[in-house]
Amino acid sequence: MKLQGKVALVTGGARGIGREIAMLFAQEGADVVICDVNLESAQATQKEIEAKGVRSMSFSTDVTAFKEVEGMVNLVLDNFKHLDILVNNAGITKDNLLLRMSEEDWDKVLAVNLKGVFNCTKAVSKVMIKQRSGKIISIASIIGIMGNAGQANYAASKGGIISFTKSVARELASRNINANAVAPGFIQTAMTDKLSEEQRKAMLATIPLNRLGVPRDVACACLFLASSDADYITGQTIVVDGGMSM
Ligand code: NDP
Repeated sequence: MKLQGKVALVTGGARGIGREIAMLFAQEGADVVICDVNLESAQATQKEIEAKGVRSMSFSTDVTAFKEVEGMVNLVLDNFKHLDILVNNAGITKDNLLLRMSEEDWDKVLAVNLKGVFNCTKAVSKVMIKQRSGKIISIASIIGIMGNAGQANYAASKGGIISFTKSVARELASRNINANAVAPGFIQTAMTDKLSEEQRKAMLATIPLNRLGVPRDVACACLFLASSDADYITGQTIVVDGGMSM
């Protein structure tokens, strides 16, 4: 039980990688708060978390709106009295080649993926500074390190998360707050399930460990960073990509 007695907030926690992180944290004894735009699926995840014997709450909160995020954090504090772990996981893609990418698609991806991380980190930092403790984990991507044709907006947002994390880590280190990022490679989700056999083979050829990642691979890295095992690690990005980007 690595997170016994801790309270964690996972954005975009209703499904996919965020849901897996939430479930693993609950399994390790944390009370877990789910923030997602889709209340129905957030509530369903809340029920699954509670079935593990820990407390949970779910919020329909859009991470792009600072006031909404601040209101959610205040309600979490009213109920749980402390907030120890933030996982900035909510993220979207709106892919297109640069010349075809609309200003709207650029703005939307930056708003959710990067401004959302700023909003949640800012709101939660205030609490963690008072507590003199906290762990902030942001889900970036190897695309934020390597770049990718057709994903200029996504790559900029994920690269931004990595440098944002380093700055926040420097600012908050004296208050015993760690800020780190996790950069997944190709993770098996509904999106990658849609790939043709040919596309899957081509992708696998670039991955030394010869398999796509699963959400649990990412969740385990988050668990490590959220636990006291990572107390002396801050400002880092852990790459979880089967060796693809080395
Ligand atoms: P999913 O699309 O499966 O899940 C993302 C979740 O975030 C959804 O529940 C979504 O809600 C929610 N969300 C979207 N916008 C907002 C918002 N404005 N406010 C709050 N919640 C929001 O994605 P994945 O699980 O695949 O990805 C999770 C993270 O991991 C993302 O940051 C992604 O960029 C990153 N990542 C994923 C990789 C992969 O291969 N899957 C690889 C590298 C990084 P709704 O369902 O209602 O839209």
